[in-house]
Amino acid sequence: MNLTMKETAAKLKAAEKILVTAHIHPDGDAIGSTLSMWLALRQLGKSAQIYLDDVIPTNLLFLPHVDAIKRPTADEKFDADLLVVLDTSTDRIGKVAAMTDAPILNIDHHVTNSNKDDNDLYLEHDAAATCEIMLALCHELGVEVTKEIATCIYTGIVTDTGFFNYSCTTSKTFHAAAELVDLGVEPNYISEQIEKRTLADVKVMSAALQTMQLYFDGKVAGMFIDAEIEKMADTTEGLVDLIRVINTVEIAFILRYQDEKTCRASLRSKGMDVSKIAKSLGGGGHIRAAGCTLHTNFDDAKNILLKTLGEYFKA
Ligand code: 5GP
Ligand code: MN
Repeated sequence: MNLTMKETAAKLKAAEKILVTAHIHPDGDAIGSTLSMWLALRQLGKSAQIYLDDVIPTNLLFLPHVDAIKRPTADEKFDADLLVVLDTSTDRIGKVAAMTDAPILNIDHHVTNSNKDDNDLYLEHDAAATCEIMLALCHELGVEVTKEIATCIYTGIVTDTGFFNYSCTTSKTFHAAAELVDLGVEPNYISEQIEKRTLADVKVMSAALQTMQLYFDGKVAGMFIDAEIEKMADTTEGLVDLIRVINTVEIAFILRYQDEKTCRASLRSKGMDVSKIAKSLGGGGHIRAAGCTLHTNFDDAKNILLKTLGEYFKA
């Protein structure tokens, strides 16, 4: 069922033991929204815990209370009366899904969230980030937006908007950012932390650029992080943007090796709907930023992705 903001706040207020999670391959919005939700719930006197079935990217370890995020072990259970799933549909939370049978409250901004299992869902697909929703939700809940909460929320907003560059950025986003700065957020500090890369990752950037190929009269650009390059990489976040800027390019992608039978694709566009392409391959996302996991080897994944892109350009 689709909920209003008021109903969403009421669900949170009614619960006592709350398990908070977000999508695997977490980004600033996933982690910023779980941490701000956790801080808000604790302020309301709830017993809350964050579980995320993945590693936290190094450049997000600066976030306040990031140590509170736990990773579930094999069959770990959690006694909850509500499972809050942030920044994703409920199928991308890994082992956390099996930790509890509690009812789900899903809060998201992805157009591709089709709410297959008919959970309680607050979906605002024109919100720039789940963290933008989190700010409004804090107000609805009567939670004081402390500097710590504001820092988490601001981080999610700037990572999902590419520092206010992407088309999802609206005046609402700027109003939210201004409010957060008034609450003590330090934009320069946060930008510096988020943009930090290891030397190895800068080398990965160079190696990845060497693999770049153009397709379909230069309308598509792709980069290939194979097993060898992957070994050196900490994060590949932002790499795809290096080639999206090429003037002929309408869609840029990066294909990343995970293991012999798994690859991940990230797609970015200047206006064409890549969420449709990702969805047709079992993934999802936004119109201009989407992704999917391909359960096959690297060469096949590359062929499948290019074939799908080719069909899309023909249509
Ligand atoms: P990225 O390319 O940065 O991993 O993801 C771009 C956007 O697409 C993000 O909003 C992310 O949540 C979404 N996305 C990436 N991979 C998947 C996927 O496998 N399934 C779905 N539903 N969304 C995805
Ligand atoms: Mn997001």
